[in-house]
This record gives sequence, C-alpha cells and structure tokens, in this order.
Amino acid sequence: MDFRLNAQQELFRTTMREFVDAEIRPVARDWEQEGRYPTEIVAGMAELGLFGMTVPEEYGGLGLDLVSFAIVFEEISRGWMGIAGILGSHALSCAMIARHGTELQKKTWLPLLATGERRTGVGLTEPDAGTDLQGIRTTARLDGDHYVVSGRKTWITNARHADPLPVLVKTDPTATPAHRGMSILLVDAGSPGYEVSRDLPKLGYKGTESCEIVLDDVRVPRENLLGGVAGRGLQQALSALESGRVNIAARSVGLAQRAYDEALSYAKERTAFGRPIAQFQAIQLQLATMATKVQAARLLTYWAAAEGDAGNRVDTQTGMAKMFASEVALECAIESMKVHGGNGYSREYEVERLYRDAILMSIGEGTNDVLRTVIAKSLVSGEARVG
Ligand SMILES: Cc1cc2nc3c(=O)[nH]c(=O)nc-3n(C[C@H](O)[C@H](O)[C@H](O)COP(=O)(O)OP(=O)(O)OC[C@H]3O[C@@H](n4cnc5c(N)ncnc54)[C@H](O)[C@@H]3O)c2cc1C
Repeated sequence: MDFRLNAQQELFRTTMREFVDAEIRPVARDWEQEGRYPTEIVAGMAELGLFGMTVPEEYGGLGLDLVSFAIVFEEISRGWMGIAGILGSHALSCAMIARHGTELQKKTWLPLLATGERRTGVGLTEPDAGTDLQGIRTTARLDGDHYVVSGRKTWITNARHADPLPVLVKTDPTATPAHRGMSILLVDAGSPGYEVSRDLPKLGYKGTESCEIVLDDVRVPRENLLGGVAGRGLQQALSALESGRVNIAARSVGLAQRAYDEALSYAKERTAFGRPIAQFQAIQLQLATMATKVQAARLLTYWAAAEGDAGNRVDTQTGMAKMFASEVALECAIESMKVHGGNGYSREYEVERLYRDAILMSIGEGTNDVLRTVIAKSLVSGEARVG
C-alpha cells in the first residue's frame, strides 16, 4: 500500500497549486463579492487544458486519471470553490459524451469541448424533480428526423455558456418504469425556443451562474440523441454522476483544507491575554480535530478515485467520500469561523465565503441523505462491504 501520489500526479498538483496561488487566491474575495464573472481564470484553465480533463486523448483532451481529476477540484476549491463549478458539470458532460456518445457525436463535440472553445453543463433538474429524476416532465416528441422538446430545467450550472447542453427528457412519457422512456439530447443553445430565462439568486457558489432554462418546442436533430438509442438517458446520467461525486468530494477537501489553513494562521497571529490564541488548549483541540478530519476526507476521496482508476464500480466508494468530505467541509468552515472570533463573521476575511460555499457540497451530485440510503442498500444487499 502506498499513500503517496505518483511522480506525475505530484507534478500535476504542483502545477495546479501554482496556478491557484497566482490566479485565483488573490482575486477570490473581491470578485466573489462583486459577483464578477472570472473570465481571466477561465482563460487560464483553458490554457492548462482543464476543459479537456475527461476527454480522451484521441479527441484532444487530457484523459486524466480520477486521482488527478480529484487534485484539480481540490486545489481550485482551496482557492475558490465557485470556480470549480465552471469545470465540474462541463467535465461531467464530457465524460458522459465520451462514454456513451456515438462516434459522430464524439468527433463533433469532444475536440471543441476539450479546448474550452465550446463549453457545456448538464440539464437534469426541474422545478418539480431533483432527486426523483424519474419524475421529470420535459418531453421530447419525435417529428420526422427531429425531436420537439418542451419543458423547464432549473439550477443549471454554466447555463449561459453551455452549448450544447445535454438535457434529460422523456422520449416516452408513458413508459414504466419511467426510466425506460428517458433519454439525453444534446441541445444546441442557439435553437429557436431555447431560453435561459433567469439567474437564480443564491447564498454562495458565486463566480458561476445557476439558471432556469425554458424549452418551448425546441427542434433537436435526431442524431443528437446521446448514444443514438432512446431509453438510456437516466443510466447515462447516473453513470456520469458516479465519478462526478469524486469532484464534489475533492472540492470539499480543498475547501476544508482552506478553512483549516485560515484557522491555523489566524490562531498564530491573533493574541489574547498576552499570547497567541494558538497556545490555548481549546483552540488546539479545534485545530487538531480539523486537521485530522481534513486528512481523513482526503484519503477517502483519493481511495474512491483510485478504485475508479482500477476499473472497479465505485458508486458506494464515491458516495462515501462525497458524503463524508462534504460534512467535514461544513464542520471545518464553522470551526474556522469560531477560531476567528468576530472576524469570522466579517466579509473582510475568507472564512465566511467558505461557510457559504460549504453547505452546497452536501446537496450537489446526490444529497447526503440520499447517498446514505444508496450506500446502505449496497451494504445490505452484499454488493458492497466494508473491511
Ligand atoms: C447551486 C446549485 C447548482 C446546481 N447545478 C445543477 C446542474 O448543473 N444541473 C442539474 O441538473 N442540477 C443542478 N442542481 C440541482 C441539484 O442537483 C438538486 O438540487 C439536487 O439533486 C436535489 O434535488 P432537489 O433540490 O429537487 O431536492 P429534493 O429532491 O426535493 O430533496 C429535498 C429533500 O428531500 C430529501 N429526499 C428526497 N428524496 C429522498 C429519498 N428518497 N430518501 C430520503 N430523502 C430524500 C433530500 O435529501 C433533501 O433533503 C444544482 C443545485 C444547486 C443548489
């Protein structure tokens, strides 16, 4: 057993860390508070090839292993978690197209998505269906060699930049079970009837937009049906979410690490009763607990990623990593705020942003409670085991 990154992963982490320290950390607080779109950071990420993380090399991408993929999200979130959002659903959809797309779809889209010349996201959630995706109402009716799509999607990350946007639809709304009638269509954002109708106001996760999309009789060519066969959409989306959970777990680790780093440096600088507060045992207990939890979350995340790299099915492992790491992120953000005293509540310090961003980690890519039920199901059935 070797708990170290290999030489290539180590080098990759150094590159990522230098990028984040130079390009993201110095601007994160101001840009986040201004609600400014991080155009320059996006350009830097494109230069590093990060939009092609999950695109195979033969289509012009980096074809990263899952551990390196985790490193990208961890390091970026150490700087500003909102930026990771720009890459997250893009990477997820690229992986989905690479895994399930027809050869024509891969050749058409992947090279452009790999460079960031075209960007994407994923349109699953609707106003009345999030966890329960089989309850979506967006329909796609076949009319000659086109599907005609009508419905609404909500909370769509990257909505103003995604083109094409893979959208989960019902190609057969009467199918039972419902997932047999569900498909994914790659929808061109320029299509008549496709409208990004509004930006949703939100607590954190700034830097990337979250929007509602209205699809009003949008005509989508039949060849844009992902994989060319109807009825496989839910499985295609769920299989992409399996590795997507590594992304959320890794973002949580980066965020938790930053919360700990901020607490440690503040505790060394801040004095009370004539000495640095880091010398008080109450503060030391918090620092030790945070550091231990961050490292446990990191190991669980890298383990889940390494299991995926070994070719194993990893829904239980990635679920465990995402659930645990996201809870550590929130705990560390709160504890770090407490170490900061009144300043922890101030917008002039980094830690309040970490707190606002941390809670999202328990919601995205499957809420933690739902993941608990998924993990438990595989444990009880014997499909997965611990120890
Ligand atoms: C900032 C942000 C960005 C997002 N980006 C995207 C995106 O790019 N694309 C996209 O498609 N979606 C996106 N989402 C949506 C996100 O995936 C959903 O919010 C999430 O899946 C939960 O769905 P919901 O909000 O409908 O909650 P619900 O499904 O209504 O859940 C509400 C509560 O009920 C619980 N619950 C539901 N079902 C069960 C069950 N069977 N057992 C136990 N508890 C249950 C949940 O755990 C939760 O606590 C985003 C959301 C946010 C907030």
